[in-house]
Amino acid sequence: MRGGADMKEYELTCIQCPIGCALTVKVDGDSVTVSGNSCPRGVKYGIKEVTEPSRTVTSTVAVEGGTIPRLSVKTKSDIPKDMIFSVMEQIKKTKAAAPVKTGDVIIKNVCDTGVDVIATKSIEKR
Ligand code: SF4
Repeated sequence: MRGGADMKEYELTCIQCPIGCALTVKVDGDSVTVSGNSCPRGVKYGIKEVTEPSRTVTSTVAVEGGTIPRLSVKTKSDIPKDMIFSVMEQIKKTKAAAPVKTGDVIIKNVCDTGVDVIATKSIEKR
């Protein structure tokens, strides 16, 4: 981050595609300007990253009574970046019970983010 009291400048790497454009995001009061992007998705990402950073979280939870011991899960949509640690802790404490189908809700409204954690795999009963 650079800039004076009323102007801030951020250097980011766009993670919306494998090209990874180097973005410069300038925030001046209510105005946000993004440069260095090769397509419009970079503008959207740059603005969101400095105003409201968020991520999809992917992980695994333990499964009881299943044909395999762990189930892959993810947040159904992005959660605020500063909630990632709490959400990971909650996921770590969670156990699912087989059978589970892809898309089943494993944790509803995780950490009051308004986002569910869902299964990304199906597991049969043992
Ligand atoms: S700005 Fe566009 S081309 Fe560049 S990394 Fe982001 S999505 Fe890819």
